[in-house]
Amino acid sequence: MTKQIALIELHQETNSFSQVPTTIREFESLALFYGEDVLTEGIRKYKKFQLAGFIDAVNRQPQRKFKTIPILSAWATSGGPIEKEVYAHFYDYILEKLKEIDQIDGVYLSMHGAMGVEGLRDPECHLLQAIRKLTGPEVPFGVSYDLHANITREKVKLATFINAYQTNPHRDHFRVGNKAAQLLMDTIDGKVTPTMAFLKMPLLKGGGMTIDFLNPMRKIFKSMKRMEKQPGVLSVSNFMSHIWLDDEEMGWSCIAITDSDPQLARAKVEELADSNWSVKDNKHPEPISVEEATKKVAAMKFRRNFGTTVFCDTSDIVAAGGPGENTHILKHLMQTDLRSYLQVRDKVETQRVFELEVGEEVTLKIGQKLEKEYNASLSYSGTLTKKADTNFGKTIIVRNANVFLILTELPCPAFSPSFFVDLGLSLWKADIVVVKNLFPFRLMYGLYNRKTFNVSTAGTTELDVFRLNYKKIPRPIYPLDEISDWRAVR
Ligand SMILES: [Zn+2]
Repeated sequence: MTKQIALIELHQETNSFSQVPTTIREFESLALFYGEDVLTEGIRKYKKFQLAGFIDAVNRQPQRKFKTIPILSAWATSGGPIEKEVYAHFYDYILEKLKEIDQIDGVYLSMHGAMGVEGLRDPECHLLQAIRKLTGPEVPFGVSYDLHANITREKVKLATFINAYQTNPHRDHFRVGNKAAQLLMDTIDGKVTPTMAFLKMPLLKGGGMTIDFLNPMRKIFKSMKRMEKQPGVLSVSNFMSHIWLDDEEMGWSCIAITDSDPQLARAKVEELADSNWSVKDNKHPEPISVEEATKKVAAMKFRRNFGTTVFCDTSDIVAAGGPGENTHILKHLMQTDLRSYLQVRDKVETQRVFELEVGEEVTLKIGQKLEKEYNASLSYSGTLTKKADTNFGKTIIVRNANVFLILTELPCPAFSPSFFVDLGLSLWKADIVVVKNLFPFRLMYGLYNRKTFNVSTAGTTELDVFRLNYKKIPRPIYPLDEISDWRAVR
C-alpha cells in the first residue's frame, strides 16, 4: 500500500526588535500556495528549494512506495512577528487539511525555526504540538530549519529528526529537502531509527564570522561533512541562531542524528560545540559609518571605472527583519556627488507619486513611519523618472542630481542586481549601490562589485549585540557575559 507523507511549509524569520508586523501580504508577495498548487506552481517557481528537493527524492524511488500530499507552501520575507490572525489562518488550514487525509504515514515540515507570532511564544512548536496531537506519537516527523533557527528543547522533543542548511549565505535548500525526504522514507520503512542529540550553547554571535566558506566557520562546516560520512551518522546541523530574536531559549545549538546510537550522536554534538566555542572570539570587520564609507569610495576613482561599490545597510537589513525605510544613508548621499542607487520602503508616498506623470518634480516625506525609534524623517525632492510594478509592489524612481532613490510599497532586500537593472539602472555607471541583505548579495553582485562596505547607522538590525535591547534571552550568554566554558552553562 502506498505510504502518504503530508508536506507543510511555513517560513518566516522574525526580528523581535521590529515594530512592523508581518501580514498576509508579505506571504503573497513571496510564496503562498495551497494544496495541489504547491506541487505545480510552487515547485515550478521555487525549483531549487526544500519542497522541490523533497519531491525529487520521492519521485526517484524505484518502487513508488511513497506519495506526497501537499498542504501548504508559505514564505514571507523576514520582519516583525506574524499577525496572530494570519498565523491562525495557516494553523486552521493545516489542521483541517490534515484531518481530511485518510492515512498519514509521515509529515514533512519545512520551517525557519525563528518564526514569531504576536502574543505566542515559539509558534513553530505550537504548530508541531497540534499536528502531533492529531497524528499520534508514532508518525515520523521530519523537520528542516534554516541554520539561523533558534532550536528550543520542545521543538526537538516533537520532531523525529531535524536537519538544516549547511551553507550561509544559503545555497543548499534543495539538498536539505532531498536529504529529509530520504531520511523520512527510510524511517517510515523501518530502515533507520533516527536518534537525535541536541545541545544548546550560551552563544550569541552573528555577522561576518558565520559565512560557511570563510574562516573561522569554514573548517567547522567541512568537519560536519566529514562527520556525516562516518558510519551510523545520518545528519549533523549547526544552528547559528540569528541575533535579533529575543527568546528565553536563545543561543546557538548543535544537532546530530545517528541510526540508533545515542552515544555517537552525543559525541558529535559535543565535538561541534567545542569547535564553535574555539572560534567564538574570532574578530570580523566591524561596520563603518556612512561618512567614512563614502570618503573611501570617493578616493577609489580608478576601481570605480570598472564597476561599482556596494553598501550593505547593516542597520536596516530587510532580509533580517529591518523595516526597509532607513533614511540615514540617503541623507548623507544627498550631500555627495557620487552616483548612488538606493531603495526605501514607503507605501503611502509610492502610491501617491505613482499617480503623477514621469518628468514631474516631486517632494517626498519619507522615514520614521514604521520604525520610530531609530529612524529619522526626511524631505527629499527630485524628478520622477520611472514608474514600474515589481515584486515589491508599485515602484518609482525619483532622481535628485546623482542620487537615484527607488521607492517601493514593500520592503526590498535587493538580493540581486536585476532589481536595479530591470528598472533601467546600469550598475556599471553607479559609484554606490545600497543593498539591504547581509549575505546573498555577496554572491550575486560579483560581476559589478569592486568593494563592499558594511555601513552602520541606526536601526533594528544592529550587528552589535551589546546595543540590542534584549529583555528575555537567557543569561549568562557570550559575549554579553564572560563564560569560560560552554559546559559551565547548561
Ligand atoms: Zn538564514
